[in-house]
Parts: sequence; structure tokens; C-alpha cells
Amino acid sequence: MEKMEFKTEVKQLLDLMIHSLYSHKEIFLRELISNASDAIDKARYESLTNNNILEGEKDWKIRITADNNAGTLTISDNGIGMTHDEVIQELGTIARSGTKEFINLLHDKAVKDNPELIGQFGVGFYSSFMVADRVTVITRKAGTGNNKGVKWESGGEGSFTVEEVEKDGKGTDVILRLREDEKMYLKEWEIRNVVKKYSDFIEHPVVMDVEREQESSIKKGEKVKVTEEETLNSGKAIWVKNKSDITETEYNEFYKHISHDFSDPAKIIHYKAEGTSEFVSLLYVPSVRPFDIFYKEYKIGPALYVKRVKIMDHCEELIQPYLRFVRGIVDSSDLPLNVSREILQNNRKVEVIKNSITKKVLDTLGELKKDEYEKYLKFYKEFGRVLKEGIHFDFSRRESIADLLLFESTKTEEGKFRTLYDYLSGMKEGQEDIYYITGSSRNEVMKSPYIEVFQDKGYEVLIMLDDIDDFIMSGFEYKGKKLKSAIKGDISLDKNEKTEKEKSGKKYKLLIELIKDHLKGEVKDVRLSGRLKDSACCLVADEGDMDPQMEKLMKAMGQSIPDRKRILEINPSHPLFEALNAIFEKEKKSVVLQKYADLLYDQALLLEGSKPKDPSAFTKAIADLMVENLKTGK
Ligand code: ADP
Repeated sequence: MEKMEFKTEVKQLLDLMIHSLYSHKEIFLRELISNASDAIDKARYESLTNNNILEGEKDWKIRITADNNAGTLTISDNGIGMTHDEVIQELGTIARSGTKEFINLLHDKAVKDNPELIGQFGVGFYSSFMVADRVTVITRKAGTGNNKGVKWESGGEGSFTVEEVEKDGKGTDVILRLREDEKMYLKEWEIRNVVKKYSDFIEHPVVMDVEREQESSIKKGEKVKVTEEETLNSGKAIWVKNKSDITETEYNEFYKHISHDFSDPAKIIHYKAEGTSEFVSLLYVPSVRPFDIFYKEYKIGPALYVKRVKIMDHCEELIQPYLRFVRGIVDSSDLPLNVSREILQNNRKVEVIKNSITKKVLDTLGELKKDEYEKYLKFYKEFGRVLKEGIHFDFSRRESIADLLLFESTKTEEGKFRTLYDYLSGMKEGQEDIYYITGSSRNEVMKSPYIEVFQDKGYEVLIMLDDIDDFIMSGFEYKGKKLKSAIKGDISLDKNEKTEKEKSGKKYKLLIELIKDHLKGEVKDVRLSGRLKDSACCLVADEGDMDPQMEKLMKAMGQSIPDRKRILEINPSHPLFEALNAIFEKEKKSVVLQKYADLLYDQALLLEGSKPKDPSAFTKAIADLMVENLKTGK
């Protein structure tokens, strides 16, 4: 017998399960039945190509056995089972990226008050420890010999044991030794209730032996006790039923079964396609974001069934990655049962389903936005960051995706949103482009010198706070209007501005050249600004260069970014330039001018939140200036 330690994150998760999650305990049964049903699906699928898996038995079943004397509840299945190594891997670790970070977050946020947070994670097998003080799993991989059984056991306190055992049938028994105050789960009516409530639609029979009193066939009038196997669930695949015959609770429970989420979904999409492609799809838009949706390993796509037989849990070929939050199932009548990954990848039928699903989901989100705005807002806060990837990756649908996006702007209050369409209808006369500013908070952006002129002229600027926003939005054209970053490239808001700027350009041409020459190691160019009103100068990235938010993201991801020089923009209407120009006219080689050029650059650095290039030289220059001013009594 081997004794092994759980991985740290499993210990923490178990600890949360046992000590924090007091409500919803009964869902342990749903989770175990779910696993049993998945294991049967896998065995059934594999048996299509490998007959040995069946071991001569096709009667798929999930059995619940309550033993009042031993105080145990057993959930058995005759599905795929696990090998020795699989048991250690599957029941000893959590193989999802970001698990550690997420569990730490849960600790901080007190799961006790917010059980749905754990739902973002998916509770699964470990939920057994909410009701049991010892869990024993006896399992044998389908298609192996009777001596290949494995027994796994744990009290949930940090370690588990594994040993080889004999096991007759294939599949898995999960034996729970119930805690003293959880013994109600041994009662027939309680089990019946919980199965009916959470697992009615499980397509394989969930059976239990029940005792009945019946008339004796030997002695008339006398009652005898008989034990009969009874199926507790109705077992009809929910998506095959008529919509009108399915209650909202049933829909929601099925969602929880496939997603392991605690919360109800935000939207249910159930439809049947007929004609060139025949399939049924039952899809859900969740209301809470799974914690690992931004990780590469996040599993994308609905489950794929072919004529009621589950082929795989996640078929990524069926969904656009920017809709990866959608959960559900697709049951096709056209695909072959032995469909392989290769077939799925270049299959016209699959493509047809994917297009249909994409359209349906986008239409549904559009309706949600129109009819139930508050609900949509909640959805958007969770998944907007994912949805907007579609602007970049789904060229043909970018406008309909754009209509689903929401933005705060310089004209909204905090927490209120506008659409691009709203923006267009509020555009000023002569305004040619749609402007946006990226940043890390609304507060920072609203104080930014980069939007001074926009504010002054009453132009609306959309506020974009997601790190990918610039990458997604720059270059996008919405109804013929370009989206332009307020912090990148040259800006002239209207024709008057343009002529003014050209005039000043001529006036200050030589001065600008001098500053440019002096700062040539630091900046790419020096030019007059069309975006400043009160500030004297600022630094901007060139139109095609990377946005500072994006740069931060890339750096955080450990990417090396070449240092790109930026452009120093000078405000021609600031009195400083009149004064500097006067000195310049008097003495073209004045050292004062060079000192001021450095100061200008440092100011621009400060304004964007960076440090001056040489802080001690900068403070010295400021102190010198103060002394001079004080001496002359200014
Ligand atoms: P999830 O089901 O979300 O993957 P669980 O923690 O519930 O997470 O289960 C972990 C893994 O253990 C499953 O993915 C599966 O591989 C394995 N497993 C659990 N229960 C069974 C079972 N009854 N039969 C076969 N494998 C199982």
C-alpha cells in the first residue's frame, strides 16, 4: 500500500470544502453521478472501436447503495474506470492552470458567504468530503483483468493511500462513510429527492434497490417484504424534449451538471436545426466567469454528441474562441459515430454548425442587451473582455460584435455605458473619427493631459481599460468611422486647428529643430500638438506603435519589447513657447535653451507617470530655477 500526499492546492480546496461550504451540501451526489455518467459515456464511446471495453456487458448503469449498518453510501458505475496511475493523477492533483492563484483568492473572499465563488472552479469529486469523513474509491479500467483493480482511500486530511485490489466488474465504486450529521443521505426518500432534483436528465439509469411490502403469493392477506431495483431518474436526454416540456429548473440543473458551476446561467439557447444540417443544440451563457478563462489550457467548446452518443466533452471546432464562455451540448445526426479530431477539423458539416451557433449566440446576446439590459450588463462585466476579441478575429462579423460592446466615456458617469452607435449619434459636426483612450483606471484617464483638447471642444472619448483594447480597436472602422487612440499618432480635431497648427509650425520651426537636435537620443521626433490645452508638452507613441497598456501586458507576460522612442509634442498655445522663442531669437545657441529642452522632456515623462531620465539633475535644475526666480523677486 502506498501513502501519498495531496498537492497543496488540493489540500486547500478540501479544507475549503470541509470547513467553509455549509450550504448546498447535497450537490455532492450530483457531482458523483455526473462523474459516473461521464465515465459511462467514455466507455460507450471507446467500445465503438474496441469491443474488449464492454467485457460482454452493454447494460450501462449507475447504482446507489445505502448501507445503514455501515453508515456508507456507495455510487457505482460500470463505465471506463481508472488505472493505478490515473487514480493518483485524477484524484490527487488539480490539473488546471491558475488553480493556486484562484484558491488564494477564495481564501481572501470568504467562500462561506459566497459559495458561488467555488462554482467558478467546479467542485467535482472532492465535494464528497463535505458529507463524508472517509472516501474510498475502488476502480478498474474497462478491458483489463480482474486483478487490476485499485483502491484509493482518504480522510480528506492531506494524504491518501493507494493499493492494488481484485475487482470483478469494470468501472468505479465511490464509497462515502457519512459524517454523523449527514446520515440523512442514507434515507431512501432523501436520495430519491436529490437525484430527481439534480440528476433527472442523466441519460443512463440511476438505480437503487428499494424495499417494498407486497401481498404474499403464498399466504393470502399476508404482507411480505421484497427488494426491487428501481430507476430513480427519467433518463431522457433533456435536449431531445420539447422546449415547452422543460422547466427552467431542469434547464439550470443540466447546465450545472455539464459545467459544475454553482450559479444559474444568464441565458439558455435551445434549438433544433433541420434541412442541410440536422442537429440539436442546447447552449448556455453563464453568469459567472470561470477563473481560468484566460488561460491557454481552458477547455473550449460544447460537448459533441452524435445521435445521442457522447463523443467528447469539449469540441473546440464548434465554437469561435471569442465565444468560449458558452457551455452546452450539440447533438448531430449527420456526423459519423466514429468521428475523429482530424475529420472534425476540416469538415463542412462542422463548419455549418459552428456558423449557426455563432449567429445564434450573437443574436441572443443582442436580444438580451435590448430586452434585459441589467442582465446584459452583468454578463458584459464578466465576459466583455472575451467577446471583444471577436472584433479582431472574426472579420465578417465584426460589426455585429461591435454592436454588443459597451464603453464608459468622458461623457458618461462612472459605471454607465455607451455603445459605438450611441457615440456616432453624439458626434460633433466636422468630427471625422471615433476617439478612445486606454489606461488602467477611469480616474487616471479622466485626468490625462492627452484628452485636454477633446474635453475643451466637447468631443467624446471612449474609455478603454482592458489591456487588449488598443490591439483590438486600433484600425477598426465602425460604420465608416475609424477608431483612433487619443494617446497615439498626430491629432487635428478639425480644419481650423489644422491651419492654426501649420501657422505656428512655421513660426516655431527653428526652435523645434533645436529642441529635437538636443533630445535626439531620447525622442523620435518633436512636433506641435493638436491634443493639449493647458499642459505644455506630452509624449506620444507613433500611430503604428504599441500602446503603453499593451506594452505593460507583454512585459508582464515576460515578452521582451524593443525600446521604442516616442514623440515629444509641444503645445503651441502655451505661453512657455512664446518666451522660449524670444530667447531663441536673441541667442540661438543659448545654454538656457538646452536646459529647458531637458526640463520639457522630463515634465512630459512625469505627466505620463514615468520618472525623469535623471531625477537628481532634474531636481537640481528646478531648484536653480527657483533660486533665479526668487532673486529677481518673481
Ligand atoms: P471533473 O469531473 O470536473 O474532471 P473531478 O474532480 O470530479 O473533476 O474528477 C476528476 C477526474 O477523476 C475526472 O476527470 C475523471 O478523470 C476521474 N473520475 C472521477 N470520477 C470517476 C469515475 N466514476 N469513473 C472514472 N473516472 C472518474
